[in-house]
Amino acid sequence: MATAAAPLTLSRLPHPAPTAPDRRESAIADPGFGRVFTDHMVVIDWDEANGWHNATLGPRGPIPLDPAASVLHYAQEIFEGLKAYRLDDGAMALFRPDQNAARFNASARRLAMPEIPEELFVEAVRQLVLADADWFPKVEGGSLYIRPFMFASEPFLGVRPAKQYKFVVILSPAGNYFKSGAPAVSVWVSDYTRAAPGGTGAAKCGGNYAASLVPTSEAFANGHDQVVFLDAAERKWIEELGGMNLFFVFDDGSLLTPPLTGTILPGITRDSLLTLAREEGLALREERYSIDQWQADAASGRLVETFACGTAAVVTPVGRVAGRAHDFTIGTGGPGQLTGKLKQKLVDIQRGLAEDRHSWVMRL
Ligand code: PMP
Repeated sequence: MATAAAPLTLSRLPHPAPTAPDRRESAIADPGFGRVFTDHMVVIDWDEANGWHNATLGPRGPIPLDPAASVLHYAQEIFEGLKAYRLDDGAMALFRPDQNAARFNASARRLAMPEIPEELFVEAVRQLVLADADWFPKVEGGSLYIRPFMFASEPFLGVRPAKQYKFVVILSPAGNYFKSGAPAVSVWVSDYTRAAPGGTGAAKCGGNYAASLVPTSEAFANGHDQVVFLDAAERKWIEELGGMNLFFVFDDGSLLTPPLTGTILPGITRDSLLTLAREEGLALREERYSIDQWQADAASGRLVETFACGTAAVVTPVGRVAGRAHDFTIGTGGPGQLTGKLKQKLVDIQRGLAEDRHSWVMRL
């Protein structure tokens, strides 16, 4: 689909009433996750005649939407999630934002939506973070969570790709994901599946997350922190958690993670950890791994650690696994050694404490 030929610049709209500093300070003192928002947002429109146009960085507020807007009926929507971090020297930085832009466009292609130039995506994120830098939480481990998204705004009830879209970026100050270090999480193996072969599992579209709400509630109701999805075809192969990818660590020091076959989200943390593990000289396999083998290997001691990874919690050990037909503990049930080591390597790069060999860190 067409995109604007000339580079688009964001017009800055004045904010008539930004949040008073004392109210802002109290909002970011203990922000939690996803419930506090900053003063500004970016909005960029797309339609067939003009491509991307009307790019603004202005006051955050409600977006007028026709009740027939196709997103409200057929869920033509995609999103991304990344963070602005504070480097050790005090500067703010993004981590591999180009990868979020690329994945956003991959999602756009799968949902029959227009792609956005990667530079425009990254520039919108960069300018918004700088505009709301005062909202960066002062708590240890805090970050600004960045949520770019795009939806079909055309008022039309026929089932076909819309002809009008809005790209929006908002920011949410976030506290430390785990207040006291990283405890091991307990996961629930769901009988529901998340993504079928040929479906939208590799896209970051809202519909995938809507479908994960019942299985996730079931995990919570059974006393677990996260849901594990198995493949839809055989109900046998481990895919990923509701919002994180999985890695398995064996007693010979090797690592395994499920392959990107189109039914799991290609995590940027996953990709970064694969690169770091490869540099460490660790044996790596991107291979299918079954739930029964996971249980057998945990029992025999061949499997020593399992961890989940994603932007929100970086790297999180998995201590216990349960489901209708399974119940087992991994290792000691607590954080493992290699899990801790890989996490430290990644966090050190994100914080500017270790050499950034791959130019992953973009200073703002
Ligand atoms: N899987 C799913 C389903 C997710 O929602 C996420 C979070 N984006 C991930 C994996 C991890 O991806 P990333 O490392 O890019 O945050």
